[in-house]
Amino acid sequence: MSDKKIVVAGAGGFIGGHLVDYLLKQGYRNIRAIDIKPFSDWYQVFDEAENRVADLCEKDNCISACDGVDEVYNLAADMGGIGFIENNKAMCMLSVLINTHLLMAAKDAGVERFFYSSSACVYNADKQKDADVVPLKEADAYPAMPEDGYGWEKLFSERMCRHFREDFGIKARVARFHNVYGPYGTWEGGREKAPAAICRKVIHAKATGKHEIEIWGDGTQTRSFMYIDDCLYGVEKIIHSDVVEPLNLGSDELVTINQLVSIAEEIGGIKLNRTYKLDAPKGVNGRNSDNTLIQEKLGWAPNIKLRDGLEKTYRWIFDEYAKKYDVASITV
Ligand code: NAD
Repeated sequence: MSDKKIVVAGAGGFIGGHLVDYLLKQGYRNIRAIDIKPFSDWYQVFDEAENRVADLCEKDNCISACDGVDEVYNLAADMGGIGFIENNKAMCMLSVLINTHLLMAAKDAGVERFFYSSSACVYNADKQKDADVVPLKEADAYPAMPEDGYGWEKLFSERMCRHFREDFGIKARVARFHNVYGPYGTWEGGREKAPAAICRKVIHAKATGKHEIEIWGDGTQTRSFMYIDDCLYGVEKIIHSDVVEPLNLGSDELVTINQLVSIAEEIGGIKLNRTYKLDAPKGVNGRNSDNTLIQEKLGWAPNIKLRDGLEKTYRWIFDEYAKKYDVASITV
């Protein structure tokens, strides 16, 4: 049991919702969960938390959020998968207001520790041209050439955390997430990421009997995907650590998008005809996480294999799909 007062910003979203659950299970009883979305749109709502709807771009809402608080976890951002971030750069960059106002409010409220969820999108694009990747080390963020829009905002906000720590003493900690996936997240509508989108497409093909799948890019681009449980454990380790520099938090199990599709097909027990949309947003050609530093400093390493995590994700999306589209006649 801990009496520490904690804010989870972005608690109505995928990672924020899971984080509230995780912290409650760790014995934290004093959690303020905040998101801009109406409660009906939160993926998870926990009655044991103090739940608030507020726009954290507004400084006054951040001041009220941080009142009497010991620790802030900032998971709030206007974001989505590659299709969203390539087409909404200004919106992505406006998330700078959330982190800036939260940091200012946290400083004034005497918050002790602050967590910022950065991204592998901060890494220099030159290091990600080849699908046959060298895993990205933390130092590869500089010289800076991050993903336009979203990545620049993340890199700038990392620097804000650094300077608030150096100048004002707030214990700000930063993780660079590499593709997090799992249940209770976005799976349709344009903001979903590759694992959820691919599960949905496989389920849709089964439901409609149209055994086809459209893949963005040529399918040879490589990525690693971290299951949510590995992420949560890492986040709590990082915020309570003495590691002041940003740390990679990601899986190092590298797959091509074609392989990811094959795993989803295997889970769904189906083989689909593949078409490739070569002009769709596809991000960098290759990206993997080098976990040497986090392993050395915190003993953290991902535990959950992609096949196992994707199966849980697929089954959750299957249930959501069946509920929404009222398809009782297909099986997982
Ligand atoms: P998500 O979109 O599911 O959750 C973000 C939440 O922030 C949403 O519920 C949204 O409503 C909320 N939000 C947006 N603007 C807000 C505002 N002005 N005030 C209050 N709440 C606001 O995304 P997620 O996958 O849970 O990501 C959480 C964090 O992790 C984000 O900072 C994201 O950039 C970062 N990240 C995620 C991934 C990933 O693979 N999921 C990868 C890298 C980084």
